[in-house]
Amino acid sequence: MEVADRSVPYLEPLLVALAVGLILLDVYTFFQYVVPQMIFHSGRMVAGAHSCLALWLLFNVFWNQAHCTLTSPGNTLEVHEQALQLAMNFDWRWCRKCNRPKPPLSHHCSICRRCVLKMDHHCVWMANCVGFYNYRYFVLFLFYMWVGAAYSAAVYWLHVPWLLRLDDPAWEARGFLPFFM
Ligand SMILES: [Zn+2]
Ligand SMILES: [Zn+2]
Repeated sequence: MEVADRSVPYLEPLLVALAVGLILLDVYTFFQYVVPQMIFHSGRMVAGAHSCLALWLLFNVFWNQAHCTLTSPGNTLEVHEQALQLAMNFDWRWCRKCNRPKPPLSHHCSICRRCVLKMDHHCVWMANCVGFYNYRYFVLFLFYMWVGAAYSAAVYWLHVPWLLRLDDPAWEARGFLPFFM
């Protein structure tokens, strides 16, 4: 477990790059293949509106992803010493690894090697713990990713016949159409 925990920080930049790469692949497909079809079939106004919506979703995805990655979730080292001592009068637990008091809902992360405030989980895709100060960015990232994925799936689905050239009369001439048409 210790070895695995220690190797995670080295793998995380690759996983973050993989996540960004997959998102950019979707963006490339959208602008390279779908937008030209939109311009051809629905005009520049419609294609422009879709492009603006897609870029707005993309901005929100990357904005929240960057903030979730770069914002410290908060840890007990950032809590003032006096506050920690005062807190010992209440029912705070003690972290033996940090050798410091541990506020309620905080947990020791073996990858970050510190107690994280209101820890949710250690996210390898963000290369960071998700906790008190970056939880909102994590939730917003998931929200915009979900909306963006649903949007691109819907747009691709509507354009499948054109993207795969299924409206090509050559299919009819051959006397068959793919099974899903
Ligand atoms: Zn700890
Ligand atoms: Zn962590």
